[in-house]
Amino acid sequence: MPKKIAILGSTGSIGISTLKVVQKLKPAFQVVGLTAYRNVKELAQQIKTYRPKMAAILDWKFFPELKALTKGTSTQLLAGEEGLVAVAGDSGADMVLTAIVGAAGLKPTLTAIQKGKDIALANKETMVMAGDVVTKAAKKSGSRILPVDSEHCAVFQCLAGSTKPSEIHKILLTASGGPFRNLNKKHFSKITLKQALKHPTWRMGPKITIDSATLMNKGLEVIEAHYLFGAPYSKIDIVIHPESIIHSMVEYIDGSVLAQLGTTDMQIPIQYALTYPARGNSPVNRLDLTQIGQLHFEKPDHGKFPCVDLAYEAGEKGGTYPAVLNAANEVAVNRFLKEEISFNDIPKIIGKTLRKYRPLTNGNLDGILWADHWARETASAI
Ligand code: NAD
Ligand code: MG
Repeated sequence: MPKKIAILGSTGSIGISTLKVVQKLKPAFQVVGLTAYRNVKELAQQIKTYRPKMAAILDWKFFPELKALTKGTSTQLLAGEEGLVAVAGDSGADMVLTAIVGAAGLKPTLTAIQKGKDIALANKETMVMAGDVVTKAAKKSGSRILPVDSEHCAVFQCLAGSTKPSEIHKILLTASGGPFRNLNKKHFSKITLKQALKHPTWRMGPKITIDSATLMNKGLEVIEAHYLFGAPYSKIDIVIHPESIIHSMVEYIDGSVLAQLGTTDMQIPIQYALTYPARGNSPVNRLDLTQIGQLHFEKPDHGKFPCVDLAYEAGEKGGTYPAVLNAANEVAVNRFLKEEISFNDIPKIIGKTLRKYRPLTNGNLDGILWADHWARETASAI
């Protein structure tokens, strides 16, 4: 029997890479659900190719076009948030790969978890904003959360063989450093959108590419690692590694450091999440260290990239603070993508939003959604 998979956010960078992996692993996998935001043409094409049981488009405006473009297929078509939630929970999937960008991934992901489905987690914002809720729900339903984010996939592999938290000295998350690693801070105010969208090592969607330029991506990943691996923040460090060959490391108390290496191709961590604990053949480029020659490492520059400290601060405070951090960041990055604010405004907006925040609720789901809403309004006003 093939393993049934639903892909949320199938038209994005991770979604498309996942479909490539699934295509190669055929007939071991069957796509039963697909979702997109607005890219109706790509979604329709995917429906015709993969013939899923269900598919949903978030924006109702495109629903008639989706119907017209997929005429003759037996796929059940849905729209709106309810549509996404239905694909996550009711498409008959054994595994749901979450590749939606941002907080919009929370409800469908939580639904899939509550129904006991395994999760291949790319949508890190869900884990950042609701890590406690998500991990508790997974424990209750027996759903396994397998990381797709390359760093967390690396840590997950380096942790195999040791499940005792007391044996871990540090989790070392590597970061490319983004396009502005060597740029003097005095030039940061003039950074253009085009420059920020040029990531040195990875090709990704626009939001995570900007997050990589501000280093907020690494900040979000620190929080993601905290919830995925149950490690205190004092045991999670960031190491700048411009070649992006080592995807992360775990240092044990005996001084042994384990690393996972590979080429910069997201198909590798995606495939591992899909086939775990087995490994399958993959046609990705092989790593040739003799071609690479040297690997470099440095400390992150906290002065140049204030988002790192903001993320640690929100993570340490816990509760609804990470949701506030995430929402303020989403608002700021959106405005930067529209060229309405400067690069330096991104950490300023997030910092000011965090300073203004007074948690009125605890970290349950309602509290998180309220904090997310409050932070969006506050960051927008700033
Ligand atoms: P992307 O922008 O390329 O794709 C996002 C997908 O989500 C698209 O299918 C889009 O239609 C859908 N979507 C966007 N907004 C939505 C909304 N409001 N509601 C429902 N669907 C929506 O993004 P991406 O680069 O593929 O990243 C997806 C997620 O994976 C992000 O959380 C990102 O941080 C994470 N991730 C990406 C990479 C990468 O290499 N691209 C690596 C690690 C982690
Ligand atoms: Mg990553």
